[in-house]
Amino acid sequence: AAPVAFLGGMSRSARSGVVVKGGGTLEALARVRSVAFDKTGTLTHGRPALTEIDPVEGADPDELLRLAASAEQGSSHVLAAGVMQAAHDRGLALSPVDSASETATNGVEAMVDGHTVRVGKLRFVQEVDPTATFPELEPGHTAVAVAVDGRWVGSLILRDTLRENAAATVRILREEGVGRVVMLTGDNEATARSLATQAGIDEAHGGLLPEDKVRLVGELPPIVVMVGDGVNDAPVLAAADVGIAMGARGSTAASESADVVIMKDDVGKVVQAVTIGRHTYRVAL
Ligand code: ADP
Ligand code: MG
Repeated sequence: AAPVAFLGGMSRSARSGVVVKGGGTLEALARVRSVAFDKTGTLTHGRPALTEIDPVEGADPDELLRLAASAEQGSSHVLAAGVMQAAHDRGLALSPVDSASETATNGVEAMVDGHTVRVGKLRFVQEVDPTATFPELEPGHTAVAVAVDGRWVGSLILRDTLRENAAATVRILREEGVGRVVMLTGDNEATARSLATQAGIDEAHGGLLPEDKVRLVGELPPIVVMVGDGVNDAPVLAAADVGIAMGARGSTAASESADVVIMKDDVGKVVQAVTIGRHTYRVAL
């Protein structure tokens, strides 16, 4: 037992906006070998902005955006916020929705003006209309598919940007001896790979469901730290040796499942969490 060092570490961490829960966490942080990052809201700002509306022939782009944004009112996903913001910026009046159903990882479906509107992953929209496709995406962009009454009506293209210190955070973790740094995301492979490259991460896994993230974290060399923010990340944060939640704007479910909560919207605090663990236990990585 090292109560003095332990309490020192705890107060040091609280002062710096890194809240450490549970007794074994600081020691585990001191011995971390692998770090897995979620993409959206963790390595990126999590404030996706609409760059393009891509309707199918004959569909009205503003009405496509308006219906999608109306349906997204029932979702807490960061992409939903981006879609609603875009509609707001264009002065489009959203219709109220009743009984929106959010499927945890795929998107949202809701009744808007008497129409069934489905918004989300390509696969999710292909379930109702197999002809749905995405245009060629520029690096760092992500697409959201939209269907109305079972017919694909087009896509919305959004862009989220890498946090300014994401690449530095990854570099410092490597310098500190973390052997494996990976990105795990529910977003598509191409977007995953381009943002991982920008962040200096050479191993990116896209198109993942929450259970896929849990499996992949289980395959990394322990001690494994997982950093995430979303509702979808709660299971993988619980499964990792140390789950770190970006708590400032992240979901309550993620914070509750985590061993460490970062109280500022700053991914660089992950380095600080590891450093506090190392100083507390004087472990050379
Ligand atoms: P990440 O793992 O990067 O945080 P998520 O697992 O939260 O990503 O989301 C993965 C993908 O699911 C998104 O890129 C998007 O295609 C789709 N998606 C989920 N919810 C929504 C929504 N409400 N609106 C639009 N797309 C959604
Ligand atoms: Mg996320």
